[in-house]
Amino acid sequence: MSAPGPQQAPQQAPRQGPQVVTFGCRLNGYESEVMRDHARAAGLEGAIIVNTCAVTKEAERQARQAIRKLRRENPAARLIVTGCAAQLDPARFAAMPEVDRVLGNTEKLKAESYREAAGDLLVTDIMAARETAGHLLAGFESRTRAYLQIQQGCDHRCTFCIIPYARGPNRSVPLGRLVEQVRTLVEAGTREVVLSGVDITSYGADLPGRPTLGETVRRLLALVPDLPRLRLSSLDPAAMDGDLLRLVAEEPRLLPHLHLSVQAGDDLILKRMKRRHLRRDVVDLAARLRDLRPGLALGADLIAGFPTETEEQAARTLALVDEADLSHLHVFPYSARPGTPAARMPAVPGDVAKARAAALRAAGARRMAARLARRVGGLADVLVETPGFGHSEDYLPVDLPPGLDAAPGSVVRVRLSGIHGDRLTATTDERMSA
Ligand code: SF4
Repeated sequence: MSAPGPQQAPQQAPRQGPQVVTFGCRLNGYESEVMRDHARAAGLEGAIIVNTCAVTKEAERQARQAIRKLRRENPAARLIVTGCAAQLDPARFAAMPEVDRVLGNTEKLKAESYREAAGDLLVTDIMAARETAGHLLAGFESRTRAYLQIQQGCDHRCTFCIIPYARGPNRSVPLGRLVEQVRTLVEAGTREVVLSGVDITSYGADLPGRPTLGETVRRLLALVPDLPRLRLSSLDPAAMDGDLLRLVAEEPRLLPHLHLSVQAGDDLILKRMKRRHLRRDVVDLAARLRDLRPGLALGADLIAGFPTETEEQAARTLALVDEADLSHLHVFPYSARPGTPAARMPAVPGDVAKARAAALRAAGARRMAARLARRVGGLADVLVETPGFGHSEDYLPVDLPPGLDAAPGSVVRVRLSGIHGDRLTATTDERMSA
């Protein structure tokens, strides 16, 4: 799963042109950028696109609430709704008087969908849309970090997850196309690419010769030697194979920050989730990864209050945060998705799930604070995202020295000098590149 947990608030991108409001996972965030470009190219400058998420009922409710508010504030705008919630229940969104058009998850990535939206067509019948791998997004340019979607869909059926129903089976983008896209990005000045998808550790299972993610990343880096920084999005701990571990050990351009789809730290809960790893696997994997790459930062998706979860089981998940030193957490309280097996299991009260989520977030914040403290005094290569701010190679937030003339998209080497709030501060050591 590619960090399918809902973000705390919808992300509203600040750029000019069509307004895109994004709910949910990082994948949705990447796709929103593609949609904005398509909408702009179709002349839909004044349009509003709401990219919904279906991972919790709350995320879906927030999307409907946002749609009503956006319509009140923008009575004349063309309002397009898409994303997983719209894919799963298009009729419900199409019936909202505020909505002009509903697009499915495949259609939302096609340029022609926006050309049609610019004309007279109204609501699209998503159920009639045909999924074809040819319409997968292969990448987009960004002035800072570029996200390259290497696969879509998921072949697993975790009991809490609705995503496979909304995104379909695993479909991978062949290496040749990935290389083309990365070369284009590098020529345009991109210094950091993130390989993303719904379940990237399943990459290649549907391609001839079944190339693994590790093999593919190695070949991609060899074929694009000018790409200095590569990240991977969420990884399934059960699918981390020898190829990937060798890459972590041997490839300095693969950045030392990995995100694991952990979900829980109790074996019975993991079984009920139909995950394919056990608690011990996560602890061992974290230790092995840090043997191979000392100092590597680890993030994790965690669900609090999964049905039947007892206090003891929740405590085991909480303890895992310290045991595996998980500092970059995405925590969300469990919320039932109708139609999933977990929705039929005995629920944990909502306030209990929320309290457990708060405890997990607090533990993650403590691990993050400890990690920041350990980094003070060291060097970092920071990708500048906005003037004066960026993230280090191990994905720590860094305030750059005042007056440093570093354009967004460049990488600067700095000395980490202290901590201010939840960020590191820095002094200039040596400018790495522009
Ligand atoms: S079914 Fe499991 S592996 Fe697939 S997207 Fe959902 S949580 Fe991730």
